[in-house]
Amino acid sequence: MKFALLNDKRIEATKRAKGVCPCCGSELVARCGEIKVHHWSHKKKCDDHWWENETEWHRNWKNKFPKECQEIIQKDESGEKHIADVKTRSGWVLEFQHSAISREERDSRDYFYTNLIWVVDGTRRPTDIKQFQNLINQARLIKPVSEIDYPEDFRLIREWGSSKSIVLIDFSANELLLIYEGCFIGDFSKNFFIELMNNTETDEFYKALLNPIQKLIAENKAYKNESRRISEQIAKEEDLKIRKEYGIKDDEDWFDGRWGIRVYKRSK
Ligand SMILES: [Zn+2]
Repeated sequence: MKFALLNDKRIEATKRAKGVCPCCGSELVARCGEIKVHHWSHKKKCDDHWWENETEWHRNWKNKFPKECQEIIQKDESGEKHIADVKTRSGWVLEFQHSAISREERDSRDYFYTNLIWVVDGTRRPTDIKQFQNLINQARLIKPVSEIDYPEDFRLIREWGSSKSIVLIDFSANELLLIYEGCFIGDFSKNFFIELMNNTETDEFYKALLNPIQKLIAENKAYKNESRRISEQIAKEEDLKIRKEYGIKDDEDWFDGRWGIRVYKRSK
């Protein structure tokens, strides 16, 4: 945790400093070693069971946003409280997810926060980058979005594709990968995303990122439907033509075999 409360002020961890957790109110210890980023840790476990220990990756992400947007307590009507990693001025909650997370927990967070964007650390398992490498290269050619033929081949998509929130994968490159509706991916600049989050109103994000994607998805769907319609039409005309030519009855079917048209009684 980056901030503790001391006399209602948010303070960062310094040696021998004291403070309490802004979420559960329990006592925190300032950890200011040489290796890990300076942080606060709970003496006993936090009531916010969603809280995970910070890595440098977390801290780097949080620091892209103003301090007053970092580690924001969010409460629902029932009084349940959680610490959002970042809440932007326009109301987006950003959760930076490094560790594995269960489906149940992900779903609960998806429902707890209304405007949630997940930023997932894609470097935790080396196999994930390997699985995505070709796809990322392709995506760069077909910006801003492309459809994946076999989404189930990708572990990250299996894990995150069903989230109702926006999911971005951070492979530690200059681009983030957006997973959308489980089988679409988009690829866009990390700096652009941060800039959008820091400087724009909620619907700007939709305009800039999601609208082009949704437009393309709609076009893809329309194209597929049209292709299907045309091929069905062709098949139908072919069927009528053959039936007429060979005098095939209504209760008979036909197929184009090696030696020509074969007719057989339709089984019931
Ligand atoms: Zn706590």
